[in-house]
Amino acid sequence: MNSTTGLVMSNITHHFGQTRVVDDVSLSIAPGELLCLLGPSGCGKTTTLRIAAGLESPSAGAVVLNSQLVSGNGVHLPPERRHVGFLFQDYALFPHLDVLGNVEFGIQSLTGTERKTRALEMLDQVGMKDYAQAWPHQLSGGQQQRVALARALAPNPGLMLLDEPFSGLDKRLRDQVRDETLHVLKRNRVSTLMVTHDPEEAMFMADRVAVMRQGRIVQMDQPEALYNSPADPFVASFFGEVNIFDALVSNGMADTPLGRFCVDGPVTKAQVLVRPEGIGITDDDGPEAVVLAARLLGRVSLIHLRVEHPHLPAAHLHARLASRALPAEGERLRLSIDHSQVFIFPAT
Ligand code: ATP
Repeated sequence: MNSTTGLVMSNITHHFGQTRVVDDVSLSIAPGELLCLLGPSGCGKTTTLRIAAGLESPSAGAVVLNSQLVSGNGVHLPPERRHVGFLFQDYALFPHLDVLGNVEFGIQSLTGTERKTRALEMLDQVGMKDYAQAWPHQLSGGQQQRVALARALAPNPGLMLLDEPFSGLDKRLRDQVRDETLHVLKRNRVSTLMVTHDPEEAMFMADRVAVMRQGRIVQMDQPEALYNSPADPFVASFFGEVNIFDALVSNGMADTPLGRFCVDGPVTKAQVLVRPEGIGITDDDGPEAVVLAARLLGRVSLIHLRVEHPHLPAAHLHARLASRALPAEGERLRLSIDHSQVFIFPAT
C-alpha cells in the first residue's frame, strides 16, 4: 500500500494505568478501503479506533492520516483537526436542529447556498431528502442513522470511523441499514475503520478484517481468507461454531472419531476443528453416527450427532446440512467430511 494515503497506524501500544489494552497494533487502510476490527468485548477495538480519531493519545507508536503525522513523536492532533467522520451506536443527532440543520452543521465553512446544496445531496444519497424539514424525534432509529451518516460524510472526511453503528437497530432493519451504509461509503470512496464484535457484520462490510484478541491483532486478511485459512483455533471459532477434537498424533496423522487427518511438522498433540457445515451424509463408507437430535433452522438443519470409534471415546458434534427430510432420532448415518472445512493446529 502507498503509505502516504489513507490511514497508517504503526506499532500502537496503549495502557490504562498498568493495563496494556492495545499491544503493538499496526494496520493500514488504503483509500476507499473498509477495514473492520473484530474481536470479543474488551479486546481493545474501541481504544484502537479512539486512537485513530485522536480521542486518545497512544502510549507508543504513530498514526499517519492522509500523509500527515497526527499522533506520535510528540505530536497529537485533536479530533477536530483530523478531518474524520464518526458514526457511533447512539446516533446523537442534535435535537434542536432539523434534519437539514444537522447535516449542515459540519460544513459551516461553505456559503449558505453551497451548504444547503451539499447537505441535500448527502440526504438524497441516504434516501432522506424528503425529511429535510423533519425533527430528529420524528424519525425512526434507522432514519436517524441515515441522517447521522449523511452528516458525517457531508464534510467529505478523509477517514470514517464506525463503532458498532448498527447495534441499536433490530435485526431486519439492521441488515437494511448496513447494506445502505456500505453502498454510500463505497460510492463516496471514503476510507473506513469500523469496530464490531459480530463476525457476520465484519464479513459483510469489510474489504479486510483484523481479528483482535487481548489487545493484539491475531490475523488480518480478506474475509474469505479468514474463513478459509484461520491462523489459530480462536480465529476459526470466531467465524461460527466449530467441533473441536483433541487428538494424539502418530506418524504425522491425527486420530479423531471422524477419521485420520494429516498434520504438518513435529507435533505429538493436535486440535482438529471441523465446521458443522463441513459434515455431510453419504451412502458410501464413512464414520458412523447416531442422530441425537435434529432441528430445522430454515434453509439448513442442525443435527446433533454421536460418533463412535473402536478405540477413541465417542464424540458429540454438530452438523449443518442443507435442508432435507430431517433424520429421525436414533437413526444411524454415514458421514462425509469436507476437508476444506477441517483445520488442524498444534495443541497448545
Ligand atoms: P467492547 O466491544 O466491549 O467495547 P472493545 O474491544 O472495544 O470492547 P475497549 O473498549 O477498547 O474494548 O476496552 C479495552 C479494555 O480497556 C477493556 O478492558 C476496558 O475496560 C478498558 N478501558 C477502556 N477505556 C478505558 C478507560 N478510559 N480507562 C480505563 N480502562 C479502560
